Amino acid sequence: MKLNIAVLAGDGIGPEVTQQAIKALTAVAVECNHQFYFKPADVGAIAIDKTGDPLPNQTLELCKNTDAILFGSIGHPKYDNDPKAKVRPEQGLLALRKSLGLYANIRPVKAYETLLDKSPLKKEIISGTDILMFRELTGGIYFGQKELSSDGNTASDLCVYHSDEIERITHLAFKAAMNRGKKVTLVDKANVLESSRLWRRVVQEIATEYPEVKLEVLFVDNAAMQIILNPSDFDVLLTENMFGDILSDEAAMLTGSIGMLPSASLGADGPGLFEPVHGSAPDIAGQDKANPMAMVLSAAMMLRIGLKEDAAATELERSVDQVLASGFRTGDLMAEGCTPVGCEAMGAELIKALGA
Ligand code: NAD
Repeated sequence: MKLNIAVLAGDGIGPEVTQQAIKALTAVAVECNHQFYFKPADVGAIAIDKTGDPLPNQTLELCKNTDAILFGSIGHPKYDNDPKAKVRPEQGLLALRKSLGLYANIRPVKAYETLLDKSPLKKEIISGTDILMFRELTGGIYFGQKELSSDGNTASDLCVYHSDEIERITHLAFKAAMNRGKKVTLVDKANVLESSRLWRRVVQEIATEYPEVKLEVLFVDNAAMQIILNPSDFDVLLTENMFGDILSDEAAMLTGSIGMLPSASLGADGPGLFEPVHGSAPDIAGQDKANPMAMVLSAAMMLRIGLKEDAAATELERSVDQVLASGFRTGDLMAEGCTPVGCEAMGAELIKALGA
């Protein structure tokens, strides 16, 4: 099969990990008899440097006309440290999500048996953890009206949700639960926020259409605790934009490193966007230290969900399992008795595991 893949490597470690994912995809393409056409484009700080725009029109047009989008990471300290910057790398990703209508962010959080020692939590707590997080991605406080008073001393961010926005992601979450543990946990703050009360009403109504699926509701503060106390109690976790952003980074620690967490962002139609959960990690950028596995696992999600290439996706996931079982580790996962490798060498091990 011939497939076009837009590659937005971005900033910091983005290009480093993306390069390894492309090598792995190229290897898997040969094995599974596919032809992937990789089309690179700029986004984030690098795009601002070149064009003044974090999402140049050329990049957006490429993304609209492709089969799938592979996204590295964006962000640069020069913008993080300048609260007055008018143009910021993150605006590129937010604009891309909005333009393509990518309303559902799906983040699997799995405890790898080979990495149980790496989590700051006890082995017996995290063993068996397998959470599928559904985070609403194009609404809520990140997209609501922002205001700063003229004297610069008062600021507000509006959190707005319409029931349609809640309904579409809720159906996705319940459908996913039907094929898994048949449980959905809605995380909200319905005791305080009106927008959360809307979420709760809409989700409870939709739950009646899926009688086989058990619906549980948790306040976000309790959920933050339960993810650490009883992570294997969760199956599908459904939540709004900002809560999902925060809880998914917390959940990352169950796997041992944020460098292991992939994600998929999907819309009603058009191409999906597949990216690791981590950012541009300026502290390790350009040092060949990044773990490329979240990016490779994002490429696997792209194959399975975006391109319906299940066998090729399974191959990529198998290569990650095999390399971990062989004891190769980037710095974030390093443990006694393991073989330390850099980003590039880890990519090479994955290629070997793919038999290329
Ligand atoms: P980060 O995810 O970039 O880094 C957090 C910590 O995790 C750092 O210590 C980093 O070294 C480590 N880390 C991250 N990915 C890793 C990997 N693959 N291998 C090994 N270690 C890894 O988050 P941050 O430091 O809060 O943000 C840095 C920049 O990234 C900021 O500009 C932020 O805005 C941006 N950001 C972008 C995205 C995105 O592109 N989707 C997401 C989050 C943050």
